[in-house]
Amino acid sequence: MVKKQFEAESKRLLDMMIHSIYSQKEIFIRELISNSSDAIDKMYYKALTDDSLTFEKDDYFIKISADKVKRTLTIKDTGIGMTQDELEENLGTIAKSGSLAFKNENEIKDGHDIIGQFGVGFYSAFMVADAVTVYTKSVSDETGYKWESTGADGYTVEPFDKKEVGTEIILTLKENTEEESYDDFLEEFRLKQVIKKYSDFIRYPIKMDVTERKLKEGSEGEYESVFEEKTVNSMVPIWRKNKSELNDEDYENFYQEKHYGFDKPLKHIHVSVDGAVRYNAILYIPSTMPFDYYSKEYEKGLELYSNGVLIMEKGPELLPDYFSFVKGLVDSEDLSLNISREMLQHDRQLKLIAKNIKNKIKNELKKLLKDEREMYVKFFGTFGRQLKYGVYSDFGANKDDLKELLMFYSSKEKKLITLQEYVSNMREDQKYIYYATGDSYDRIEKLPQTEVVLDKGYEILYLTDEIDEFAIKMLATFNEKEFKSVSSGDLGFDEEESQKAEEEDKANKDLFEEMKKHLEGKVTDVRVSKRLKSHPVCLTSEGEVSIEMEKVLQAMPD
Ligand code: ADP
Ligand code: MG
Repeated sequence: MVKKQFEAESKRLLDMMIHSIYSQKEIFIRELISNSSDAIDKMYYKALTDDSLTFEKDDYFIKISADKVKRTLTIKDTGIGMTQDELEENLGTIAKSGSLAFKNENEIKDGHDIIGQFGVGFYSAFMVADAVTVYTKSVSDETGYKWESTGADGYTVEPFDKKEVGTEIILTLKENTEEESYDDFLEEFRLKQVIKKYSDFIRYPIKMDVTERKLKEGSEGEYESVFEEKTVNSMVPIWRKNKSELNDEDYENFYQEKHYGFDKPLKHIHVSVDGAVRYNAILYIPSTMPFDYYSKEYEKGLELYSNGVLIMEKGPELLPDYFSFVKGLVDSEDLSLNISREMLQHDRQLKLIAKNIKNKIKNELKKLLKDEREMYVKFFGTFGRQLKYGVYSDFGANKDDLKELLMFYSSKEKKLITLQEYVSNMREDQKYIYYATGDSYDRIEKLPQTEVVLDKGYEILYLTDEIDEFAIKMLATFNEKEFKSVSSGDLGFDEEESQKAEEEDKANKDLFEEMKKHLEGKVTDVRVSKRLKSHPVCLTSEGEVSIEMEKVLQAMPD
């Protein structure tokens, strides 16, 4: 039999697994169980939608068994199984979801960060096992297959006569060392503990043969130990549980188990709605930007379940673009199981759910802003730009949803403030919300145009992000107060002075005409300004488009 090599990426990951540190090892159980659960999800869905397959609910389970003599641990499932091609593709190459591409070399050498924070899928088995054997039979295949690997040196695949559809994974545990006892994972107590911790909410029974102490039949007060198959998880999906039963750690574990991100989520939102539309949802706001967030590969969306059955891994209709960073899932009994992607787009129930979810997220962010300012500022630093794009896009259709969530840097406070805060701080005689644009706060501060407004004692919003001014232009006003660039003609406080300037303009007409001639093609006009303080001259633009916006527009591809 030919031994095949793993892909380079996979090999690196495998190496990391083999040299991982002990405390992280237990998560291999979570990873294998979650794969089994995914596989049963697929089978379950297929059986429900394909009349030629009969199914009984009891047919779906995961079974964990340990053999202390052989030192093997077996994870068996009645899931959809894998064909030969799928075996090669799925176990020979690292799954996309667990891509290492974004991690820098240092982190990978260490490995600590990666394993600790998120699942690494199937290969995590090599943290505890010298050899891994997979027996599998796909629902769409006549024969079964055996896949085997002893680590980085490659793997083999051969046909194997397996009767039932499903997958069985057998781990031959590593030899114990002085520091580490792999035998630990053969202990009933330890296995139960890890399953409870990470996989309690898995919807299918996770069965184990456990020892029970029972009263001996016919005896008085005499006990004996008997083996009995028991389900060790509670099987209630986390989103169906009562919020009061759950703590932060449960939500964090679920986030990691689902591989929503590599970080610890900033916030979770648990929603149970029982009204015109019924659904449960668990939503997360990540604390760091997903590594592929601004790449083409990034897909927004929530997992979509119909009454507990996964029908779509990414339902993009459930999230507006400006909340595309939100992760999580939605389960609704009002959705049809057979719904197709095209149908979903027009589904009335789904639209209601999406609207509802949008409002939940918005309200959660508002609450965060109000109650946990520091956390909100951190959030805004990471995803604020998305909200600003939201205001600008769709012809400003979302601006009412988002305007209260925006923050800009204040000349007075020297930190980010909301528009509401700006307006509340406005002086009585102040007509406008002033803003100035530039590359950095420092440079904006030094602009001659800024100086004049600051000198008058007004607060200015400093806009440094390219999108800022576009968003502000789209808003046009906030609480009926108009936004005004410090470079614009009418600033609302220097009427008298502008009259004087006009007179001086007239008096020096010849001089300015001459200057204009020398600067031809570079400026459209030369004028007297009464706004200059310590600068002899300033550049400004006329009309709606500022110099900064012009730069952005010119940089855009046609
Ligand atoms: P991920 O679960 O993120 O896709 P894994 O490394 O955990 O990555 O698994 C890789 C792939 O192998 C899965 O996507 C699935 O297609 C397949 N697989 C793993 N375990 C099983 C299983 N028990 N039954 C069927 N397919 C499986
Ligand atoms: Mg997996």
